[in-house]
Amino acid sequence: MSAFIPYSTQSIDATDYDAVLETMMSPYLTCGPKAGEFEDAVCSFTGANYAVAVNSCTSALHLAMLALGVGPGDIVYVSAISFAASANCARMAGAEVRFVDVDPDSGLMDMDCLERMLDCAADERALPKAVVAVDLSGRCVDLKRLHELSMRYGFKVVEDAAHALGATFNGDMVGCGKYSDITVLSFHPVKIITTAEGGMALTNDEKLAHRIRALSSHGIEHDKARLNDKSKPGYYYEMQDLGYNYRMCDLLAALGISQMRRIGVFLEQRRRKARMYRELLSGAENISLPDPDTEGNESSWHLYQVRIKNGRRDQVYTTLRSKNIGVQVHYLPIYRHPYYWNTGKYVPLEGAEAFFSQTLSIPLYPTLSHLQQQLCAATLMSAAEGC
Ligand SMILES: *Cc1c(COP(=O)(O)O)cnc(C)c1O
Repeated sequence: MSAFIPYSTQSIDATDYDAVLETMMSPYLTCGPKAGEFEDAVCSFTGANYAVAVNSCTSALHLAMLALGVGPGDIVYVSAISFAASANCARMAGAEVRFVDVDPDSGLMDMDCLERMLDCAADERALPKAVVAVDLSGRCVDLKRLHELSMRYGFKVVEDAAHALGATFNGDMVGCGKYSDITVLSFHPVKIITTAEGGMALTNDEKLAHRIRALSSHGIEHDKARLNDKSKPGYYYEMQDLGYNYRMCDLLAALGISQMRRIGVFLEQRRRKARMYRELLSGAENISLPDPDTEGNESSWHLYQVRIKNGRRDQVYTTLRSKNIGVQVHYLPIYRHPYYWNTGKYVPLEGAEAFFSQTLSIPLYPTLSHLQQQLCAATLMSAAEGC
């Protein structure tokens, strides 16, 4: 049997080894110049004004909540289909989570559903303080409508772009800050670029950026102009808020900088392979394909999520896994996890249930060979045939 093909994996080369090794031999393993250089690279790529590198996207989400002032008594709306961290950040901050249903075909937040929820919430004076929307698979949610709703109902937009570094929406780059208050990225190895573990928060709001940075480093303030007591010598700093140690170390930031040099290649390879799947899988029985890119609306293609018709997704999953093809399901609706479900506060949402029951992520990553891709497509088609 052929070797295991994962649904996604990192692309590491000799320039990455060199970058990490060089930093390993430098004076600073952490808190040196590399995190700042990495932040600058992501800012110039995305168009964001400010970036704070942290040790995971989960940390970035947590800090986003805290920086926006989300706390006990607040409500946060979250896409029902995402990785659990998209919702957990609100719980970490002590807020209540309400799930917003998704489009059954794309898994992206359903803006009609969101608008209906906001309408009701306005009547009940229970509007959310923030909405966490997810660019699932690397495809942007309707950011324009989300932004319009945020203006009308007065909530903050946190865009979970863990999948979507390099994606575009109406010609704008994810993270540029036109529609979102804070955009968060993940650098887990399966994502678009990697730092092993790592994440980043992007914003165009100087105050938010400063708050996120301070909270990522114990809530400590070093900047003399911002100290309560400005009379002390250089050793003096103040802990002004209860913060965390969520910093990204220089070793990992060096890997991030090196990876950013190849992001154009990574995106092009993912996009080319997504187009190839469209060819290879055209006319496949019982399989629906994700929408292709259009001008100005390009997915980063973190995931290639097909939909398996006729309720046979689990069988197709099991067949492919038995043939060493690392398909995966992204995701169980978050409210179905026992931590949420056992509260008795949540009910199944129609779009999320429909999406979950059909979705299957098939292998897609920059180094997937054409032969491997043909094998994945052919095995998928024969598994789905006649279901
Ligand atoms: C991967 C992922 C996260 C968490 O990222 P980490 O860097 O592993 O903390 C959050 N949200 C989504 C949608 C993800 O896919």
